[in-house]
Amino acid sequence: MNKLQDELFAQKNTKALLKQAQQAAFDYIDSQSTQRVFPSETNLEKLTIFDESLPKATSDPSLILELLNTVGSVNTVAQTGGRYFGFVNGNALPITLATKWLSDVWDQNAALYVMSPIASKLESVCQNWLNQLFGLPEHTVAGFVSGTSIATLSGLAAARFRQLQKLGWDVNQQGLFGAPRIRLILGKQTHGTVAKAISLLGFGQASIEWVDCDNQGRLMVEKLPPLDQSCILVLQAGNVNSGAFDDFTQLCKLANRAHAWVHIDGAFGLWAKASNMFDKHTKGMELADSWSVDPHKTLNTPYDCGIVLCKDPLALTSALHQQGSYIQLSEQRDGLLYTPEMSKRARAIELWAAMKYLGRAGIAELVEQLHSHTQFFADLLTDNGFTILNDVVFNQVVLSCETEQLTKKTLSLVQQSGECWCGGSTWHEKSVIRISLCSWATTKQDVVRSVDVFVKARKQALQT
Ligand SMILES: *Cc1c(COP(=O)(O)O)cnc(C)c1O
Repeated sequence: MNKLQDELFAQKNTKALLKQAQQAAFDYIDSQSTQRVFPSETNLEKLTIFDESLPKATSDPSLILELLNTVGSVNTVAQTGGRYFGFVNGNALPITLATKWLSDVWDQNAALYVMSPIASKLESVCQNWLNQLFGLPEHTVAGFVSGTSIATLSGLAAARFRQLQKLGWDVNQQGLFGAPRIRLILGKQTHGTVAKAISLLGFGQASIEWVDCDNQGRLMVEKLPPLDQSCILVLQAGNVNSGAFDDFTQLCKLANRAHAWVHIDGAFGLWAKASNMFDKHTKGMELADSWSVDPHKTLNTPYDCGIVLCKDPLALTSALHQQGSYIQLSEQRDGLLYTPEMSKRARAIELWAAMKYLGRAGIAELVEQLHSHTQFFADLLTDNGFTILNDVVFNQVVLSCETEQLTKKTLSLVQQSGECWCGGSTWHEKSVIRISLCSWATTKQDVVRSVDVFVKARKQALQT
């Protein structure tokens, strides 16, 4: 055997590296309550240690882990704690971390049944459970992808295939040059990833017809242009700033009647369907043709876990199909049929673990808890003189101070505090502070402590 192989076998057999990683992970978990939410300047400066040229030869793996642990851990953002409110970044449920660890050791490729029977089985189970949870038609299929960006790309690829087929055009054969025109109907508050998917699919931004939204960011039904079978309408379950939901019942009915395709971007908001509490907002979402949703947000699975759902299986698999003399499809589920990628990690494992652990009631409780803590956050901020700019319908708060200048300064001081972290945004052409409460671990005390940070930050901003 050669030298490298000897070395690698030795590492695998001693298991010492995994133990070392485990110890480092345990230390990280123990330090969570005291760790800064965003790294300090001093720690950020240490990142330069990674600026080295490609190593000339192999080195001690234990030292590599040690380096990552000492300089890496302190330069993470503590989003697995309770006081991270940035973007819409979820936490990870303990069981999802544990199952991910175990399945990382398995290192499965979820492309084909013959590559991983367990991954194939759990993908099938998750697909059924998701259909039940979201109340979707039984034949709806799920593709497990890296996140909503790729889920939306996949859903719109299915839409492109089907709508062009209705117009007598086979996009797989004939491509887009000379194809009948497809009209993309989007609210002006649509998430940026949708426009990106549209570009990638070769439609061009000129194919988009932008529809006005109301003050919560919902597409205005009365502003919808007449639809026909050349249309793809994109709706939102959860506006990325306000959390608002489009009026699915009315919009989907109009679209269905016109044979237009409806895709719903429900990255974080689709999960609201799990609780009756949000019926008013989620009603009618089952009338769409395809959906994108992220377990790695609201459901609190680890990252790299998104789903495309499509009730037209043939459109999805036709859009994403690939062939190869060596590809061995089976009678069982072959994951690659439903995703743009071929090789991929078996991400449905953590999704399965989350749903198996929480069950329907647990998922409902999780989304209700996120909502009630968000409402509490908004109420406390109001009591302390901040202005809440949105209706808090789910887990998002948009707020401001008396002036834009003060809002920006306050936000910057909150971000530097290390006590909590949230981002900024633009809402109705004004700079705002944006809170997304997406972690199972956030408690009321975390909210109280974070509001204190906001109050102190504004006081300090007023003095400078
Ligand atoms: C996060 C988000 C996306 C993008 O999802 P990724 O998983 O980051 O690719 C799209 N739409 C909305 C509404 C989102 O919140």
